[in-house]
Amino acid sequence: MIIVMTRGSAEEQLQIVIGEIKAFGYDPHVIRGTDRTVVGAVGDERGKARLQALESFDGVEQVIPILKPFKLASTEVKQERSIVELANGLKIGGGHLAVMAGPCSVESEEQLLETARRVKAAGANVLRGGAFKPRTSPYAFQGLAEEGLKLMARAGEETGLPIITEVIAPEDVDLVAEYADIVQVGARNMSNFALLRRLGGIRKPVMLKRGMSATVEEFLMSAEYILSEGNYNVILCERGIRTFETATRFTFDINAIPLLHNLTHLPVIADPSHATGQWRLVEPIAKAALAAGADGLMIEVHTDPVHAFSDGAQSLRPDTFEKMMKSILPYAELSGLKLPEFD
Ligand code: PEP
Ligand code: MN
Repeated sequence: MIIVMTRGSAEEQLQIVIGEIKAFGYDPHVIRGTDRTVVGAVGDERGKARLQALESFDGVEQVIPILKPFKLASTEVKQERSIVELANGLKIGGGHLAVMAGPCSVESEEQLLETARRVKAAGANVLRGGAFKPRTSPYAFQGLAEEGLKLMARAGEETGLPIITEVIAPEDVDLVAEYADIVQVGARNMSNFALLRRLGGIRKPVMLKRGMSATVEEFLMSAEYILSEGNYNVILCERGIRTFETATRFTFDINAIPLLHNLTHLPVIADPSHATGQWRLVEPIAKAALAAGADGLMIEVHTDPVHAFSDGAQSLRPDTFEKMMKSILPYAELSGLKLPEFD
């Protein structure tokens, strides 16, 4: 249920409503919009009609059922686009172009630093790099773990770029969150509900990637796991889904970009690297994603793709990334995005 407070209602009235929601056995989530405050009351769907009684409380304008199964993620609860602000002040969503770039895996200090400097100079505003890698084969490179996180932190400090890196196990959430500015949940973990719940307990931004076989609704239900635990700093990432087509690694679901913007207020990032699996397709799909309204991109960049420990075939060289950045800007501009600054 959404409890819509009247314009100019008092804080005291809001606190009474919050207390009543708790007494009914529901979790109150306060969303303060520019216009008015609403409270999402989430919990057991059965018996939620009892919350309707709140309509008679002072300061309450309306109590409306949330029809979508994802509640706090829904535009029913919040129409304004959410902006996720990082510790360095970088805003993601709401009209600011975010470009997260870097290697698939952190391999060495030299590789990471060189890549970080190059992507920064080309206009990226977040550094990506995996320290814990969810690999299809248990025999493949699994990442440098904490050593990789340390290298990411160092590269972030040196370049001034905030860092995004993946967590794959619930027990590593605190460790990864200590280093990362944005904690990434990979496609293979989108339905790891224990992990999502743990991430709901931290306050660092989380970027949730869509599972390769997940519907948009399942994707948003996973986001709901994080939101319902109280972490509202959630970014979504469309990274391609599995279809009958085998000519590309995955199929980029362009529909998902405007659809997500209709269904949710959360920022939406596109990952054309994993979606296509081929570096030549990255630039055109990046343009398409921006034209469709994506709030930003995640792009894999490697100084020596042929010898990359993972995902070399889809990684751009730094000079190709630089060229791509120049060519995508008109698309970002046409979509009304504010561009990052260049060196
Ligand atoms: C990644 O971004 O490094 C990654 C593993 O991507 P995905 O989870 O989308 O496969
Ligand atoms: Mn990768």
